[in-house]
Amino acid sequence: MTRRRYSPVPFAQVKLTSPFWRERLETVLTRTIPSQHAKLAEVGALESLKLPQPPPPLRIPRNSHGLSTQIFWDSDVGKWIEAASYALAHRRDADIEAKIDAIVDDLARAQSPDGYLNSWYNGREPEKRWTNLRDNHELYNAGHLLEGAIAYFRATGRRKMLDVMERYVDHIGTMFGRGPGQKRGYPGHQEIELALVKLYRLTGDRRRLDLAAYFIDERGHQPHYYTEEALARGDDPASYWAGTYEYNQSHIPVREQTRMVGHAVRAMYMASAMADLALELGDENLKRACEALWRDVTTAQMYVTAGLGPKDTNEGFTEPYDLPNETAYAETCASVALIFWAHRMLHLDLDGRYAEVMELALFNGALTGLARDGVHYFYANPLESRGGRRRWAWHVCPCCTMNVSRLVASVAGYALSVSEDGVALHLYGGFETTVTLAGVKVAVRETSAYPWSCEVRIDIDPEAPATFDLKLRIPEWAKGAIAAVNGEKVALAPVNGYATIRRRWRKGDAVTLDLKMPAERIYAHPNVRMDVGRTALRRGPLIYCVEEADNPGGPVQTLALPRSAPLDAGWRTDLFGGVMTLKASAKRLVPGKGAGALYSTEPPAAEDAALVALPYHLWANRGPGSMQVWVAELDG
Ligand SMILES: [Zn+2]
Repeated sequence: MTRRRYSPVPFAQVKLTSPFWRERLETVLTRTIPSQHAKLAEVGALESLKLPQPPPPLRIPRNSHGLSTQIFWDSDVGKWIEAASYALAHRRDADIEAKIDAIVDDLARAQSPDGYLNSWYNGREPEKRWTNLRDNHELYNAGHLLEGAIAYFRATGRRKMLDVMERYVDHIGTMFGRGPGQKRGYPGHQEIELALVKLYRLTGDRRRLDLAAYFIDERGHQPHYYTEEALARGDDPASYWAGTYEYNQSHIPVREQTRMVGHAVRAMYMASAMADLALELGDENLKRACEALWRDVTTAQMYVTAGLGPKDTNEGFTEPYDLPNETAYAETCASVALIFWAHRMLHLDLDGRYAEVMELALFNGALTGLARDGVHYFYANPLESRGGRRRWAWHVCPCCTMNVSRLVASVAGYALSVSEDGVALHLYGGFETTVTLAGVKVAVRETSAYPWSCEVRIDIDPEAPATFDLKLRIPEWAKGAIAAVNGEKVALAPVNGYATIRRRWRKGDAVTLDLKMPAERIYAHPNVRMDVGRTALRRGPLIYCVEEADNPGGPVQTLALPRSAPLDAGWRTDLFGGVMTLKASAKRLVPGKGAGALYSTEPPAAEDAALVALPYHLWANRGPGSMQVWVAELDG
């Protein structure tokens, strides 16, 4: 049986005091969320919910496969409502709530009498609903709207949207399943499974959990649903545009999958749902399937930034160790969804491996997707650029924009977990909460300037003296971490990445933790051919990059770092409101004799150069210029 020991402390119960995250959160609240609503209006996504008749011409033309990304506008709206609702937990906002209520009214009006709700099908081709689960995102749209409804209900107590969505889920529950007359279908883009588990946790309605389990377990069985469905439409299943059911992880049943394949975001949502179900159902077999996939992703298919999916054509995975830097796809959504998965794995087993990846993706692969100004984005997150990659203000497929805003608005929910007699800290940086431990109310306040500083203070204030565990995550890079309780040094003996301090805690107790945070070099497995002879720089949870703005004098690709050159961390107040940069004495490679020739028998000369690196998530916030994470390394 899976033991349900540690549960997350929901973000709304955690006060975010972290200077790092407060600043990002403020940008998301004041700029990102309002601007996203304006964009959804501008592109027509909000208008489409009003079901104008006749429907206006397509704003996004069909592609060569006959598909328009407009078909998943509902998901963008749902995700915006979710992000905005998380923002409301920090600060109620009548204007935002009025905007959400207006959308909810439109959704209620658009809903069919039988509960079905999809702006594309209701507005354009109602006779074709549920005929192409493989491509047309109906269940995905439903999932995101449902997550939005749950978040809005939790934030405001208003249940109109939740009622609308419960009716829709009732409809879906009658439509799909193994009963007589039901379709044996499942989502072409996984997502609704996560939403259904959330709905089950909110309402206790077991049918929602069963439906999520059905969608996960039916996936990939023979006869293959998408083949049958294509035949029923009169299409040739062999002409499937993606070429393989690996694309949506339906090539074999999920419990038999040991290698992560196909579209990365679909894969991450599926794995997140598998972990949810393993926990809720105590399903050890499903848990083992999650663990096998986790091993595969983290030992052979993940970028050093926790980006996932190197290839653009399938927006996903290729072969083990195939991690090209300049052409990396590494969709922001995939790193956000990796955080969802890691967070769920962490609650199957309180193991620092999961928290490590969760934090890596948070500070790097995911956060990179949002510009400092809060209104520009990256969809793909390459680890190298020759200068042509710029952030965009919107995307024909804006999935990543609301994924990163809902993440930042709820980031405090990833910080801590509790059991009956323990509190575990996964993230540092400034988080406060009050939880019940060993039957006593306890205020837990963590204060630090993490990730810039490794010095952490934790104040523990129980209403009455109480004995419980304080579990501190000791990251893999924090070698030699030390701690003290009320000034008295305590031995740290981390087990599975967590050091446990168990004692009778009293009001006013304070723990100090020094994680040690050296700037260090990272090397890739030699099978990652693109990174051979290269090193990446890291300090704490932050992966660094070199950008031309800090390294003038030519493309950063001509910089090389001697292996023995010390790395100096230095605080810069003049950049981005304060940032820790890394500096080293490096070399710039210039043509040797025969300058100007494309090839020469002379090796290039190496001129002295100062290398300046800054956190990867901050790149492309200044003018155009080259960037590189993996820097060439020189002997010496
Ligand atoms: Zn995306």
